Amino acid sequence: MTEQVALRPCGARPVEAVRAALAALAIVAAAAASGCDGAPAGGPIRAVGVESQYADVISQIGGSFVSVVAIERKPDTDPHAFEASPAVARELASANLVVENGLGYDAWVDKVLAATPGARRSVIDAQHVMRLPDSTVNPHLWYAPQTMPVVAQAIANVLATLEPDEAAYFHANVRRFDASLGPWKAALAAIAGRFKGTPVAVTEPVADYLLDEAGVRIATPKSLELAIMNGTDPAPQDIALENALLSGRVVKAFVYNRQVTSPLTQALLARARTAGIPVIGVYETMPAGDRYQSWMLAATRALSAARAGGAPTRSQAR
Ligand SMILES: [Zn+2]
Repeated sequence: MTEQVALRPCGARPVEAVRAALAALAIVAAAAASGCDGAPAGGPIRAVGVESQYADVISQIGGSFVSVVAIERKPDTDPHAFEASPAVARELASANLVVENGLGYDAWVDKVLAATPGARRSVIDAQHVMRLPDSTVNPHLWYAPQTMPVVAQAIANVLATLEPDEAAYFHANVRRFDASLGPWKAALAAIAGRFKGTPVAVTEPVADYLLDEAGVRIATPKSLELAIMNGTDPAPQDIALENALLSGRVVKAFVYNRQVTSPLTQALLARARTAGIPVIGVYETMPAGDRYQSWMLAATRALSAARAGGAPTRSQAR
């Protein structure tokens, strides 16, 4: 992933004009109205992956034909509470391609984009390309192995319209990307074959799609997962049940969201450790230096190792 540095076809924008998001948006809107819309014009296609995992997939499909920015890329901040800065608004407003998650996970994106009508851009929403209804409760779509191949294809389709001469290259990259998910899918299938129905506990549903695919059984009450995710008060009986799952060693692993923690999740983590239950640390946002494929494979191997009683893996150690 590279920082956006190149291609300011409308000239540099005055620094003092970007103190507030609205000021920045006004400048971009004016640029768009004058016909200067940040189109490729011989330079790389400007793309934004709202979450770093989507930015990574854009990079893998677009190669050197895209200049990609990841907005949410820090695994130490709560993505559910992200707020756009003026700089972020500018990046989005001037992009040719934006890939967002949808399902309310990054609802601020649509507000920023709506504030810059007239700018030429394509927006890919993972929720929409996966045809998921708004009522879908778990927004962490990238943990499902079905998601990124569809997103990657949608990315290639957009890039092919922006750089038609390179369409074959983009589509070849989709095939390569799909093939590269093979080891992850094989690891999921192997767990499903060996540990189907094994009970595990979680905090919020960040990795639930992966756990479902691996065939393990999520014993944590769904209402507790959603309360933790949404920052609402969990029901006392849900906490009591979760405590019993851990202290009673009913579950064989505890999948812990290291990125979004609270006194409750920290207390659950301590309880799991006291009970000697293997802890698998997972993140919402892809850590820097990872690729999407290796990130998912590491999480899956951590699950496999935890269930098999093996040594902690990289993602457990984090
Ligand atoms: Zn989350």
